[in-house]
Amino acid sequence: MKVLTPRDERDALRLYRRNPDAFPLAGGTDLMVLWNAGLLNKKTILDLSGLRDWSRIRETPKGVWIGALATHAEIRTHPAIRERFPLLVDSCRTVGGRQIQNRGTLGGNIANASPAGDTFPALAVYAALVHTVSDNDRRVMPIDEIFAGVKKTHLKAGELIEGVELQTPPNPPSRWRFRKVGTRAAQAISKTVFAGQLWLGKDKVVDDVKLALGSVAPTVKRLRHVETHLTGRALDGKTIESALRLLPGDIHPIDDIRSTREYRLQVSRNLIRSFLMGR
Ligand SMILES: Cc1cc2nc3c(=O)[nH]c(=O)nc-3n(C[C@H](O)[C@H](O)[C@H](O)COP(=O)(O)OP(=O)(O)OC[C@H]3O[C@@H](n4cnc5c(N)ncnc54)[C@H](O)[C@@H]3O)c2cc1C
Repeated sequence: MKVLTPRDERDALRLYRRNPDAFPLAGGTDLMVLWNAGLLNKKTILDLSGLRDWSRIRETPKGVWIGALATHAEIRTHPAIRERFPLLVDSCRTVGGRQIQNRGTLGGNIANASPAGDTFPALAVYAALVHTVSDNDRRVMPIDEIFAGVKKTHLKAGELIEGVELQTPPNPPSRWRFRKVGTRAAQAISKTVFAGQLWLGKDKVVDDVKLALGSVAPTVKRLRHVETHLTGRALDGKTIESALRLLPGDIHPIDDIRSTREYRLQVSRNLIRSFLMGR
């Protein structure tokens, strides 16, 4: 195995352009699984640990910037993120155990593009923007547009995730919730993972609602049909049930070794219903 050790961003992008088949190494929690299985033999690794600035989390005039190399532990303990983006805090808290949270990074979680990536529903309801950089270009993509399929992204050859931008909503939501359903309460891969924010106005009319599910399609899904149906209506049992009937148009759960399509659909309905009813 060949390991490239750039000292800074410029060096890293130059080396990646010359070695487009290299595997960028952040925390290594996903890559080490491949290494252990012998899948990285004779491959080239681009070690990102020299890019110190890329671990930074900082407040911006509009919200928060999270460098791609910030770990789940750093994100879930950051004061500004705890105050303004609690769904992301809750999701980082459920990624693996403490060891994984101490090493695993947000950039690595996104680039790995697992359908069960736990941070993605939270990032989707916050409409997170993913910033990428290569030797000759910079791009900004909404989180739900960076994924191309199971374990596939729209990153180009030589392109790295630099960080994620979160914009603070103008008004805090009336209600928010993150829920992960797996085989166990901890250290489990999600069967369904949910994040939601709800803004209620006068007479319980839905001013705005943002809902997302993971593990129920090849990529994270914002529930646009359900959201559109709820917006502008009074939030009562009838509205919630009619909105839930639209859910199969938003997600595409599958049968696999962890669960069945029907179970995932039913649990997703239950999670959304209990969130909307405030239970
Ligand atoms: C025991 C265990 C439990 C886990 N539990 C969970 C869980 O509950 N929920 C969950 O979502 N995940 C889980 N994971 C997966 C993993 O920990 C996360 O996806 C983690 O965030 C990956 O980050 P990393 O820095 O370790 O990535 P790495 O392993 O370093 O990299 C992952 C992939 O991303 C690429 N990459 C890394 N950084 C960049 C970048 N800046 N730009 C472009 N490409 C990049 C790498 O080349 C590689 O393909 C678990 C893994 C293990 C081993």
